[in-house]
Amino acid sequence: MTDLDLDLRWYAGTRSGRRGAAPPIQVHPAAPDTVLLRQSITTNFEAPFLYLLFGGDRAFLLDTGATADATSFPLRATVDTLIDGWLRAHPRDGYELIVAHSHAHGDHVAGDGQFADRSRTRVVGHSAADVAAFFGIPDWPRGRSRVDLGGRVLDVIPTPGHHPSAVAIYDEATGMLLTGDTVYPGRLYVQDFPAFQDSLRALCDFSAAHPVSVVLGAHIEMSARPFRDFPLGSTWHPDESPLPLTVGDLHAIRDAAARIAGRPGAHRHANFIIWNGPCRLESASQSIRLLLFRASGLLRAPGR
Ligand SMILES: [Zn+2]
Repeated sequence: MTDLDLDLRWYAGTRSGRRGAAPPIQVHPAAPDTVLLRQSITTNFEAPFLYLLFGGDRAFLLDTGATADATSFPLRATVDTLIDGWLRAHPRDGYELIVAHSHAHGDHVAGDGQFADRSRTRVVGHSAADVAAFFGIPDWPRGRSRVDLGGRVLDVIPTPGHHPSAVAIYDEATGMLLTGDTVYPGRLYVQDFPAFQDSLRALCDFSAAHPVSVVLGAHIEMSARPFRDFPLGSTWHPDESPLPLTVGDLHAIRDAAARIAGRPGAHRHANFIIWNGPCRLESASQSIRLLLFRASGLLRAPGR
């Protein structure tokens, strides 16, 4: 199995929310043929992670970020440059691109339009039916399917609960399990709790049967201080919790979800928070925390 290099600092944004020195997309080659990308937090507070995987016949892009505009968020240009570079090292004709999504919330599909006119490119649709049809997943959400990139095979695992068309992607070349917004170090917003629990059980069962080296989601919202998240909407993330989670964390989230089923509200743990339902009180407290967080930054950094 190929080792992943995930030891890096992601740009933290700025206290003022201004762009600063951060590029609009931070690009990190984590292994040969495996690139992590992150939309700068200064272009959108969601700062989602995107994944670009190269196989012998086609590349696979998971998610297209939170911004449609190609000037402020040049995803297509970035992906084209990465693919051109890969093809210079591995010359071949007819190389394809699949643009898929961890799920269809706006901060994961906004850049789709940038790929609309790209040749030899297929963009997966947004509904559960679209996703099941594209990958040939039987009996959604219980079935699974595999997609062959040419010498590199990915498993596609339905994981509804946060969003109806959510999937996780397992890459057997590196052992990474990409879990989108279903599992990541942050606020796990649950729309359909029974489906969420089924999906967590499915991910744990899958991880028991396959070598999972790391669990990688689509955001970081926890700080390095246990139990402490950055306020919702903040464009400054000093000292984030690391992105990688483990199979042990998957089990912990599954077990935590089992304990709070039927109990609405935000349930806080050291490196994740489960939001069961709309959580109006917690939402109001997040708004106040954001104001205080921004004010504290301004007080500490006058004029920035
Ligand atoms: Zn989402």
